[in-house]
Amino acid sequence: MKCVLTCLGALLACTPGPPSPIRPADQLIDALNTLERKVCLTVGVRANAPGDQCEAQVDRTAYLEPLREVFLAAPPIFKAYLCSMDRIYFDYHSAWNANFSVLPDSQSGKQFRSIGVRRGLLESRVRYADWATAWTQHWWTGGPIDHPSTDLDLPHVEVESRLPGESGILFHLMAHEVAHALAFDYGVFDRPSAKPFEPGEFGYLSWLAPQWPDSSQVVHPAVAREPALEAVRRLDFNGNLDARLTMLEAAEKQGRRFDPGAVPVQGWTPASRDGIATFLDRLDRSSFTTVFSTWHPEDDWTESFVMMTLPAIAERFDIIGPQGTRVRVLQKVSDDTSPFAPKRRFITRTIDRALADFRARQAASPNTCLAVALAAANRSIVVSPSTSGS
Ligand SMILES: [Zn+2]
Repeated sequence: MKCVLTCLGALLACTPGPPSPIRPADQLIDALNTLERKVCLTVGVRANAPGDQCEAQVDRTAYLEPLREVFLAAPPIFKAYLCSMDRIYFDYHSAWNANFSVLPDSQSGKQFRSIGVRRGLLESRVRYADWATAWTQHWWTGGPIDHPSTDLDLPHVEVESRLPGESGILFHLMAHEVAHALAFDYGVFDRPSAKPFEPGEFGYLSWLAPQWPDSSQVVHPAVAREPALEAVRRLDFNGNLDARLTMLEAAEKQGRRFDPGAVPVQGWTPASRDGIATFLDRLDRSSFTTVFSTWHPEDDWTESFVMMTLPAIAERFDIIGPQGTRVRVLQKVSDDTSPFAPKRRFITRTIDRALADFRARQAASPNTCLAVALAAANRSIVVSPSTSGS
């Protein structure tokens, strides 16, 4: 017992003996400390690799406390994925909000897994509802991601969350990146790129084909299978991403910071105002959750996962259209009869597989962070509510 009390942080160093119970509160402290040690405020360029340089000090209030709040609130699968990250970057190297990377480490041959989040987001202390509104508008206008427009022709978002500030946004963004990691690990989108999706694949639930040739054989990207979402076809997702990347690259070349939260993107092709209204009118009856989710299957997957995860911190996430249309996103993703339900079942099955694999890994090689995540899995049904039949 003495060993358990004195060497919680170095459990593996304890001499073998009968396993002693560790207080959950101590495990949690240890897990949070482990997570904090992964945080890197990048110095110079970022290669998403072990050699990246980090600032010596990390401001607790700005970066570590929001991360703690995210971990504490996160459902089990989300916690487990945060535990599996080698590093969490906060810096100015994002063309938008966040990114995820898995690279083989040339030294150890092991994967190096990281999530990077836009540092300006945490520094400017944005309200979750403002960010959610500005981010929704950004897809149509290219406006600054942290500052919503008051233009009544643009959509806005109402969020009711117990994390109403930047922690809520961090939760939202990290859930999105965790979903990319989950899809990567389970090969959800491993396929030849020009091959149409087949029934039983997630992409099929979003797209019949990854590309769409029109009658004159011009190929259009990102074709949502639901004709109701025709309006988004006119949105130049790829062109607008390029505009954003061009701005980031230009800023980095000149040694300037680029924070898309603060400035509009130059060279953006705005959407027609009619298209916005039409899209939002039809979104509710579609299987999609946000405009971002209609871009390509991978981000339909990630945005769907975010909305399934969000009830852990939010009661409500409603998108309001210019004519007053209200899309109650959280209601839709939890409703077994909504057009979203097949996507939810697909994602839930993948989460269950991943949790089973995490349990096996934990049994073979225990670590405290994962122990906390999996203990929560035994108590919680959040995100994985429909497993009773499988
Ligand atoms: Zn994404």
